[in-house]
Amino acid sequence: MNDKAQATCTTCPYCGVGCGVAVTAGDPVQGDTTHPANYGRLCVKGSSLHETLGDSGRLLHPRVRGRRTDWSQAVQSVAGAIREAVAQHGPGSVGFYLSGQLLTEDYYAANKLAKGFIGTPHVDTNSRLCMSSAVAAHKRAFGADVVPGCYEDLEIADLLVLVGSNAAWNHPILFQRMQAAARDGRRVVVVDPRQTATSDLADLHLSLRPGSDAALFNGLLTWLADRDALDQDYITAHCDGFDDALAAARHSAPDVEAVADACDLPVDDVVRFFNWFADTPRTVTVFSQGVNQSSSGTDKGNAIINCHLATGRVGKPGASPFSITGQPNAMGGREVGGLANTLAAHMDYQNDADRDRVQRFWRSPGLADGPGYKAVDLFDAVHRGEIKVLWIMATNPAVSLPDNARVREALASCPTVIVSDCVAETDTTAYADILLPAMGWGEKDGTVTNSERRISRQRAFLPPTGEARPDWWIISEVARELGYGDAFSYTAPVDVFREHAALSAFENQGHRPFDLTGFKDMNSENYDGLAPIQWPVNQRYPQGRSRIFDDGRFATPNGRAQFIAITPDQPVQQPDRDYPMVVNSGRIRDQWHTMTRTGRAARLWQHRAEPFIDVHPQDLERLGLKAGQLGRLDGARGTFVGRLQAVPEQRPGEVFIPIHWNRQYAGHALASDLMAAVVDPVSGQPESKHGVARLSAAPVRWRARLLCRPGHTGVWRAEHWSRVPLDGCESWWLAGEDKADWPDWASRWLGGQPQVEMHDAGAGRYRAARFHQGQLLAVLMAEPAESPFPDLGWLATCFERDDLAAADRRAILAGRDADLPDIGPVICSCFQIGQKQIEAAIGDGSDSPEALGRQLKCGTNCGSCMPELRKLIETTQIAMEAE
Ligand code: SF4
Repeated sequence: MNDKAQATCTTCPYCGVGCGVAVTAGDPVQGDTTHPANYGRLCVKGSSLHETLGDSGRLLHPRVRGRRTDWSQAVQSVAGAIREAVAQHGPGSVGFYLSGQLLTEDYYAANKLAKGFIGTPHVDTNSRLCMSSAVAAHKRAFGADVVPGCYEDLEIADLLVLVGSNAAWNHPILFQRMQAAARDGRRVVVVDPRQTATSDLADLHLSLRPGSDAALFNGLLTWLADRDALDQDYITAHCDGFDDALAAARHSAPDVEAVADACDLPVDDVVRFFNWFADTPRTVTVFSQGVNQSSSGTDKGNAIINCHLATGRVGKPGASPFSITGQPNAMGGREVGGLANTLAAHMDYQNDADRDRVQRFWRSPGLADGPGYKAVDLFDAVHRGEIKVLWIMATNPAVSLPDNARVREALASCPTVIVSDCVAETDTTAYADILLPAMGWGEKDGTVTNSERRISRQRAFLPPTGEARPDWWIISEVARELGYGDAFSYTAPVDVFREHAALSAFENQGHRPFDLTGFKDMNSENYDGLAPIQWPVNQRYPQGRSRIFDDGRFATPNGRAQFIAITPDQPVQQPDRDYPMVVNSGRIRDQWHTMTRTGRAARLWQHRAEPFIDVHPQDLERLGLKAGQLGRLDGARGTFVGRLQAVPEQRPGEVFIPIHWNRQYAGHALASDLMAAVVDPVSGQPESKHGVARLSAAPVRWRARLLCRPGHTGVWRAEHWSRVPLDGCESWWLAGEDKADWPDWASRWLGGQPQVEMHDAGAGRYRAARFHQGQLLAVLMAEPAESPFPDLGWLATCFERDDLAAADRRAILAGRDADLPDIGPVICSCFQIGQKQIEAAIGDGSDSPEALGRQLKCGTNCGSCMPELRKLIETTQIAMEAE
């Protein structure tokens, strides 16, 4: 147990690792030392959770068409819109777009209302964008959406293969567990076009051509067959379809040279990987968004699973394919049936008995009779006017879905958009006709399931903010208003959970692995005290089960796993003369999704504060660009503007951009504007890792930084802008092409005439500030396009003072206190240690992350910066040797 007896044990709301968090009122959050996902550790996002609380920016009251109202009126408005749409256009005119941020109880209630009572099948989720290809691959191979292994497998495997996964940034605590398990003889292979922080762990990094993963694993299957490295007994006893899968693999990848050619890899590296895989019984292959977010992600997943089936390495200790989910409750959404092509509790539309079962269990008046629209198709249906009412819960499709301009058009044209959210102003709430305030993390109460099937409680430790309510309650109220009160008579989340468990158990004779029979009679006390546990939980496994399919019995009708014959496909979006660069997109270390929560913690901005474009130095040179310039990527559907970064670890011809920035934080930095609405034909998952665009310099004549108090009304958005909310002030990056008129612009940006000013018109330099009594109100600094700004960390602290003297005012125009050192960009967010401090310590002889930790403390808390520390040691030492 955590040492603080009064701590509330809950679960982190960010990534799919699902770390336990211990919260004591008024203290910083801590890792829950008893939680099996993290044993007390938290990454920088998790350990900043307490900094994201508070009612600033929260949606506090229901609103209907712009006017504040009460819950009764809001519920009537939602129910009225649904009733009218169903009466006039049928149940299929109502759509739901849910989220992996919802708790399982919320998800269950929404799925039941939509499919079972309104009768619409159009219920999809943002998890479609994250791991629906893995779901489809699991179902094709195993007969059910099951991750067979557990986190311990990643530690005890002798060969760990990470495919399309930057776990160091996206699943940091799981990465740290992998790192801590390093030992003699354990090998790690990272398969990723980019060399990332995760490559820090790699004995071999395969920087393959984007999209060529299926060719690599088809080649591996051929290699295993040709080297007599198959587990023929396992294949014969437990699998179907091997001959066809091998024939397809052999056809596309007949030998290692063909594989190396298809993947653009050195033959020796491919051979080394294949030999390691063939020779290592304890092999785990981790795959994530780099595999899933593809126009052929399901095939890639099955190409990986084929190799594990062929060697009998499924569900065994240290031997399994392992899909890691991005979101905190993507797995819970899969359990309840939150994807449009599933029904409920791992039962399917395609199975008549399943449909009948769910209909009887729910006593449904009119169960939806077939799969609904997946995310991209759902918004297409909204766009063409087929969906009249769209209810969006806890997600931000106006940022995340591809071909985003079209999504925004769809939202703007939809007769009724209902948004349940805890945040007032997002790109999506801007389109809401009805806004419903939902409880946020710390207020809501329920369960989530992490990537290893472990169900954990998210517990409330705060009262609701404003009139916020739990999502399950909102859904139940609407159901009551629609006349379905008997089926939604829940009074607490345990009521919903118990029913969810009972549905999983209903007529389940062991053929559905998702089985919570052990919880179907759960009472409040047991629910409150529920310890993290991996499903299934039933008579045979009352304490849960860490591994599934270890006995070779699968969830297909005949109990045998299915090999899938794979013909590798190229990404659909291919570079051409107009759009010659390949655009990869993904997450950064310290932010989460659209930053609605992480954006509130000032220290999470210090690692990356601006939108950026990672480019290989050769490409910069070829295009006449410089690192530090503002660059722009123009695609067929939109433009992304970000700071150019020279990254030798990029493949030439390919760039990387972050997915987090949106219109709340930047002018033109929506990654989804560059992505076409191309999807995997099986899973419907968008190809978010492979857009195309043209790279050039953003035409900029001047650049400025504005620091001002939050809510400062003078901010006039320049052609290019991005902003960072800090403690006590906001920091804006501004740039433009127009001829600057600084005295005029300054009064707009500063909210009035400056009291101190410095203007060097010849050099294109301008600085000005406004004060009120002893307080700094706003400061503006303009520089010519090529000149650097001073580090403004000290300046930001001036907003917290109310006694600024004349000397301070002069220092403010200089941008920094001359007595304070410039520490460079912050690398360790926990202890605010900058790059220049770390480089100096390395120069003084600290030649390991541990030595740096002893000297500066960096890396000694959450550990998220460890890969960057290692990289800095390497680059600094190389630079020192060259001197
Ligand atoms: S790894 Fe970090 S973001 Fe993910 S669940 Fe754990 S603490 Fe949260």
